[in-house]
Amino acid sequence: MANPSLLILAGDGIGPEVMAEVKKIIGWFGTKRGVTFDVTEDLVGGCAYDKHGTPLHDDTMAKAQEVDAVLLGAVGGPQYDNLDFSVKPERGLLRLRKEMDLFSNLRPAQCFDALADFSSLKRDVVAGLDIVIVRELTSGVYFGEPRGIFTEGNERVGINTQRYTESEIARVARSAFELARRRNNKVCSMEKANVMESGILWRQVVQEVHDKEYPDVALTHMYADNGAMQLCRWPKQFDVIVTDNLFGDVLSDMAAMLTGSLGMLPSASLGLPMANGRPKALYEPVHGSAPDIAGQGKANPIACILSFAMALRYSFDMGDDATRVEKAVEKVLADGVRTADLMGPEGGVPVTTSQMGDAVIAALDASL
Ligand code: NAD
Repeated sequence: MANPSLLILAGDGIGPEVMAEVKKIIGWFGTKRGVTFDVTEDLVGGCAYDKHGTPLHDDTMAKAQEVDAVLLGAVGGPQYDNLDFSVKPERGLLRLRKEMDLFSNLRPAQCFDALADFSSLKRDVVAGLDIVIVRELTSGVYFGEPRGIFTEGNERVGINTQRYTESEIARVARSAFELARRRNNKVCSMEKANVMESGILWRQVVQEVHDKEYPDVALTHMYADNGAMQLCRWPKQFDVIVTDNLFGDVLSDMAAMLTGSLGMLPSASLGLPMANGRPKALYEPVHGSAPDIAGQGKANPIACILSFAMALRYSFDMGDDATRVEKAVEKVLADGVRTADLMGPEGGVPVTTSQMGDAVIAALDASL
């Protein structure tokens, strides 16, 4: 059987620094676990613009469509702020999401015990938290027509349209139910069916997909505003939350921040299955290119490492190895190894990006 294939797009700023640590772990899987990934590397974002005059070259886009999974670092930087909108670094990322049709965005909110005191919530509310928000990513109010700023009479009116087709709702619902089956078998769907027709349809379609295809998964429905309150009150009541693009944008940021630093947050964006049964997939840390710390060895590589763990689980059916990587991260944190962003008020000496990667490798070695 062919080796699993990965396209690495490290991007700008701290992207290449955090990705270097993931490459060490990919190497570790080759030497210690006998799993060799066919890795191709290419440019995205500002570095692609510098070389090709576009943030994503057509050849790179074609490669992304061919591989089993894409792993992205981060894009952007102040030197690109004044570029035309059409060639800004972020356009490269948006093109990948759009052309790969990555409609299902998975944002875990997982609280490692060693970092529970970093949360703005009380320790017992967040310690051991492990939930995933599935956000619909390619439709809804960010894309619906009509949109724009128009003039009506003697004033301007800003319009965006919330629009969802049945099939768009059904496919993201399936993605959430599949995910729940690999976890604790619980899905909570969030919308505003009390005030929005698109919310009524959302609720109906999620229920229909459930009843026909996933009756074994426990399904509940909740209004999204109540969902926000419940996430603050007692987030551990959830397992998988599925919601639309707009509510998902807000709720996933909120849930992620329950757990502490931006340098810890991974994400996956999944599309339809390819011929080999694997979903189209892009894995990336939630953080940006952090120009304020780029090139200084200060970046926390854990978000990128955990994104690779998600690739192991969702693209390569290597759930046990994904858990092995997550446990290695947990152990390193429990041992008190901290990059600068994870230093508490008690202080101490932070490790560098590379030292954090080495500590994870050592914990992986110890897991064998
Ligand atoms: P950012 O996420 O890059 O940084 C926000 C803050 O968090 C900074 O203080 C940074 O030092 C810190 N931080 C982020 N990641 C960290 C890590 N791994 N370890 C330690 N500290 C970390 O967001 P920003 O400053 O708003 O944006 C900077 C650039 O990144 C902009 O050009 C923006 O457009 C781009 N951006 C890209 C993405 C992406 O590639 N997906 C996402 C967000 C922002």
